[in-house]
Amino acid sequence: MEIEVKKLNAKKQYVGSFGFDYQPASNLCLLPLCKIDGAVRIEGEFEIYEDDTVGVIFTVKYFLTGKCSYCLSDAKREISFSSDVLFVPEKDDDNYYYDGFKINLKTAVDDAILISQPGVLLCKEDCNGIDVT
Ligand SMILES: [Zn+2]
Repeated sequence: MEIEVKKLNAKKQYVGSFGFDYQPASNLCLLPLCKIDGAVRIEGEFEIYEDDTVGVIFTVKYFLTGKCSYCLSDAKREISFSSDVLFVPEKDDDNYYYDGFKINLKTAVDDAILISQPGVLLCKEDCNGIDVT
């Protein structure tokens, strides 16, 4: 999952799109008793600007499966999340850094997977938890 900025610049190819499947590390799932089921699908577009900064817009899509956070029944939910980031060849606090040659999307994708996770996974939207009556 790399964007070869220098090469693309040489070819005057300043915009493009990409799509790939990514198998995230298991510790990217923060919810207890849950996991990211299968691969994460990533699709996006990039634009290389004149100052060598690169704007990347991408969507991560995946299934979260595991136990309902309230009642422990089996639960599954599809997550879709869009991210709009900027890669810069000089480090700053707000953007992702790259070396001016090529961008590795891994950190931005991992961040998007983390940010996109809900606080709870529910078997159904109105789950009331374990029925104790
Ligand atoms: Zn439930």
